[in-house]
Amino acid sequence: FPVAPARSSVKTPVISFEFFPPKTEGAARSLQQTVATLAGFAPEFLSVTYGAGGTTRDRTLATTAEMVRQGVGPVAGHLTCVGATREDVNAVAQEYWAAGVRHIVALRGDPGTPGSRFEPHPGGYAHAADLVKGLKTVADFEISVAAYPETHPEAVSPQKDIEYLKAKLDAGATRAITQFFFVPEAFLRFRDRAVAAGITAPIVPGILPIANVAQAYKFAELCGAGIPETLRATLDGLDAHPEARAMVTTALAAELCRTLLAEGVEHLHIYTLNRAEPSYALCRLLGVMPALQA
Ligand code: FAD
Repeated sequence: FPVAPARSSVKTPVISFEFFPPKTEGAARSLQQTVATLAGFAPEFLSVTYGAGGTTRDRTLATTAEMVRQGVGPVAGHLTCVGATREDVNAVAQEYWAAGVRHIVALRGDPGTPGSRFEPHPGGYAHAADLVKGLKTVADFEISVAAYPETHPEAVSPQKDIEYLKAKLDAGATRAITQFFFVPEAFLRFRDRAVAAGITAPIVPGILPIANVAQAYKFAELCGAGIPETLRATLDGLDAHPEARAMVTTALAAELCRTLLAEGVEHLHIYTLNRAEPSYALCRLLGVMPALQA
């Protein structure tokens, strides 16, 4: 059995978790359990996604408000500006603030019809950088923004994409959280290029513990995350073996995280897909121990 590197050689990371708003009462109860379990790790923050165009507006607001009420830790609400006026977007931000949410993950979002070209709403924020500026006029939110180690699919060039990332940070965001990736070098090269472009804010890698191989391949194709042949060979066919899949994908996520930590990464943002166990196992493998046993 492979032995984990000595804990002393790699610092224990800061962790944050991402969830999506539940659609049914049953899913809401299950999410509450997941959040309670993962809150035991005392995460830096727990974030909840927001459907582009406001499709999950009420559910996202209700979920974040409930998390604040439960006192599970600092809560971040995602907010997109696509397909909405500035007034509508600002009103959601005000609702976040009133509910006790002090951190927003500010995003442009994607057009409702997959594959169609993004057109800013005539009365809306055109890009995430404009959204960041606008949110700062609503209240003194902490703001995180998105970054793309393998370049945003619509970007005119990797360099321009980084320049626009810098603009979002210069507009008042304090960190960037990345799209998921499977190859550590993709993140590390991106971080080098960001630093060379004058970015000083932390770039937090987004980590996806794979729950379902077919779904992960689909997500990866949509966002342009590379999957090397060796990784594909490891993953192919695992959906027929759910227990082995859980073990293999957790080990792979831990290996990726350890490589990043050895390269000086201090904070990992975990895409939980609303499941406690994979993130719980990953944290334990990385030496992050629950403060409370849930
Ligand atoms: P932007 O930073 O505005 O960039 C979008 C594109 O426009 C890029 O290609 C960029 O290069 C280009 N660009 C930026 N500024 C300019 C400019 N001034 N002029 C010309 N071009 C420009 N989506 C959701 O719907 N809900 C979520 O909750 C959500 N959460 C996410 C969380 C994370 C951590 C990440 C990485 C992504 C998330 N997304 C979410 C997806 C995101 O909305 C999409 O990737 C979207 O296509 C881009 O959003 P952005 O904020 O990065 O946009």
